Amino acid sequence: MAYCDVCGNYDAEHTDGEPSMKASSDYQPDLYYYWDQPIEEDYNWRDAYPDVDCMCEICFDIANSEKKIQWDIPRCQSRL
Ligand SMILES: [Zn+2]
Repeated sequence: MAYCDVCGNYDAEHTDGEPSMKASSDYQPDLYYYWDQPIEEDYNWRDAYPDVDCMCEICFDIANSEKKIQWDIPRCQSRL
């Protein structure tokens, strides 16, 4: 299941089939949810959001625009 730790949006898996949860404005099944899993992902927001495990694409885009997401860029590119 996915639940945004920043704004509280969540997807279908998080509702557990509960109708009241699907009626909430926080129910955003069409958003993409990002997980902070450094082993597989090339982004890292732990410096800015140490307690956040999951982020919806809205919060991710905002954090990225505020340079709060660190990207693992190959060295050859980081020199550009
Ligand atoms: Zn969010």
